[in-house]
Amino acid sequence: MSLKDVAIIGGGVAGISASLVLADIGFAVHIIERDVQLGGHAVNFACKATDKCSKCLVCLADELVLKAFQHPKIKVLTGSEVTSFSGKSGNFELQISQAIGEESLFKELILKVGAVVIATGFMPFNAEEKKEYGYGKYKNVITALELEKDLRLTGKVLRPTDGAIPKKIAFFQCVGSRDESIGRGYCSKVCCPYALRLSKLIKSEIPESDVTIFYMDVQPAGKCFNKFRQECEELGIHFVRNLPSKVYGYVDSDFLRVKSLSGDKGEVVQNEFDLVVLSVGMSPQSDARFLADTFGVSLDRYGFFEGQGFRVNLSNVPGIFLAGACQGPKDIEESIVHGKAAAVEVARMLRV
Ligand code: SF4
Repeated sequence: MSLKDVAIIGGGVAGISASLVLADIGFAVHIIERDVQLGGHAVNFACKATDKCSKCLVCLADELVLKAFQHPKIKVLTGSEVTSFSGKSGNFELQISQAIGEESLFKELILKVGAVVIATGFMPFNAEEKKEYGYGKYKNVITALELEKDLRLTGKVLRPTDGAIPKKIAFFQCVGSRDESIGRGYCSKVCCPYALRLSKLIKSEIPESDVTIFYMDVQPAGKCFNKFRQECEELGIHFVRNLPSKVYGYVDSDFLRVKSLSGDKGEVVQNEFDLVVLSVGMSPQSDARFLADTFGVSLDRYGFFEGQGFRVNLSNVPGIFLAGACQGPKDIEESIVHGKAAAVEVARMLRV
């Protein structure tokens, strides 16, 4: 190990992207991933292509994982966490605890590296916190991430209570985002694009379905976004500019009753759906506070790692860099770009 080695904490798409750039330059890279697999959340998402690619970039995540494992300059430590840290820029020492086997055995490792990249990603908002939407109480209220996983595994959209094909589907936007009352006043940026892509995919798989997106205002993302929304409207997807106030279940039926205001008159209306999909936002990773304290790096007011002004890949500690959604909500494409930019900052520092 040399002080030109780099530790990347987190093996999602941002961490892998940073690793590949650094490894291609010639640095020895150690990916420290808490999970048993690489790829982060993205490897659980479904491809959302219909008759054409929807540019969700989910397929890239699998490719990145493969490249990381195949690269001779990258060492992957899964089931591993940083337990302590010391040193200064260019000369850090990390203590790593790595789970081995299935018997809760751990081995301790010491890594000496010149730089550290924090790329620990995000946690989906816990939808149970929005009690009024009944997640955890009604089985037919699911999160968009659960829908993604089902689509990836089975290729189908099914109603959880009985496996039937749902006919009336509602998406609720901004669940756990843009809400200062729960300490999340920021827009998660990814949930409008993914809800539109999922809706379009549903309409293509179940043409007779009736899909409604309840929203505050849809965030444009990417240069094709407006065209994409127009295509959704042409397919008959309804957009209602009001977030529902409550979801009710029935004792003897799989349907759900959704209470909201009508878009044009502001009257209370109640509609039945057989599947409600919550477009949950991005929350800071559960161990962000622990890592911030361990490395002495600062968090912003929402708990994401704080970049330095326009140099969003720099932390407040020299030699420690930030990549991906640990620094704030980002989609797959942005996370990859952000990870590569972090690698450029690392290379610049270590080559001096
Ligand atoms: Fe709400 Fe859309 Fe922003 Fe997500 S991307 S927080 S759904 S406005």
